[in-house]
Amino acid sequence: MANGHGKKPEDFKKQMEDNFKVAPGEHTHVKKVIGVVSGKGGVGKSLVTGLAACAMNKKGFKTAIMDADITGPSIPKMFGIGKANYADETGLLPASSDGGIKIMSLNMLVENETDPVIWRGPVIAGIVKQFWSDVNWGDVDYMFVDMPPGTGDVPLTVFQSLPVDGIIVVSTPQELVGMIVEKAINMAEMMKVPVIGIVENMSYLNCPHCGKPISVFGESGIEKYAASKGIDVLGRIPIDPEIAGLCDNGKAEDIEGEYLDSLVYVLEGMLQAE
Ligand code: ADP
Repeated sequence: MANGHGKKPEDFKKQMEDNFKVAPGEHTHVKKVIGVVSGKGGVGKSLVTGLAACAMNKKGFKTAIMDADITGPSIPKMFGIGKANYADETGLLPASSDGGIKIMSLNMLVENETDPVIWRGPVIAGIVKQFWSDVNWGDVDYMFVDMPPGTGDVPLTVFQSLPVDGIIVVSTPQELVGMIVEKAINMAEMMKVPVIGIVENMSYLNCPHCGKPISVFGESGIEKYAASKGIDVLGRIPIDPEIAGLCDNGKAEDIEGEYLDSLVYVLEGMLQAE
């Protein structure tokens, strides 16, 4: 039933949800914002964020990474970026990877990157909002947001504040067994953000002697799981010491392997559909 102002209750709800949205800076024009989420930390969310960004960048798209994993930022290290706090009258300026990916992370701004972030949730969420509103990102085709893990108030604020077009869910085989991934998926669905698909990290290990894949954590149940949720599997990444080494040494852009080809295809489709 319409209320006194001629607005239906659902219109008010929509308006309230929109009120949380933060406007980007005037020099920022991002075509697609892609969140990368996981149920918990340490599953390779940052790795997938980095690999997805590298893949789109190599395809010639203008690509950026916002490191919203404020308490566990690993993106600058993966790309060999140290302290880099540049600003001009247009706002804070992102750093650039060797390949030209624009990057912003709290680690680039703090005095000592090993200092723990001891702020409470609302302050941390505020930083993510500022990364959207106060950074001059320029023209970007795909911005990947390395989201805080889990389903707490910080990821919730990120979902509410940024115009996220879709999320990529990252999981390891063991994690699927519990309900942590499911919570992350449900959170996105409740926020009405489409799930682009799931990427399984540490999926298998290639035997160093014969090259045969070894299912370290038992046979992967990813296909069955994804099918039961009606989502697509968009990549499987093996455990590979070389991947870890390149990430540790700031050389993420040198990681080879077409692990995320299906994801790239789907992401390209998102822009073409416009
Ligand atoms: P998250 O962002 O989920 O916390 P990260 O992407 O930072 O996780 O990965 C955690 C650690 O595990 C990093 O040191 C990373 O280099 C390593 N790692 C992640 N995925 C792999 C993999 N497939 N093979 C080898 N090491 C990996």
